[in-house]
Amino acid sequence: TYVVTDACIRCKYMDCVEVCPVDCFYEGENMLVINPNECIDCGVCEPECPAEAILPDTESGQEKWLELNATFSSQWPNI
Ligand code: SF4
Repeated sequence: TYVVTDACIRCKYMDCVEVCPVDCFYEGENMLVINPNECIDCGVCEPECPAEAILPDTESGQEKWLELNATFSSQWPNI
């Protein structure tokens, strides 16, 4: 799965949301998150992010962001 990280905070560019084939982005107060259960790992969103905030969760150090994306996507509205 892919995860949204802190570079997204206050960006809200939304290009990633438009290209996601399964609509698995969720919107919170300060940033977007990806629901890891819905992401099909296609990678289409990664190059669309102007803040380079979207990364594969396989990169080291992404564990906490995976957890945050999972938690917040269950609390925030789908976009
Ligand atoms: Fe959506 Fe694909 Fe990005 Fe996952 S990797 S959030 S399915 S665009």
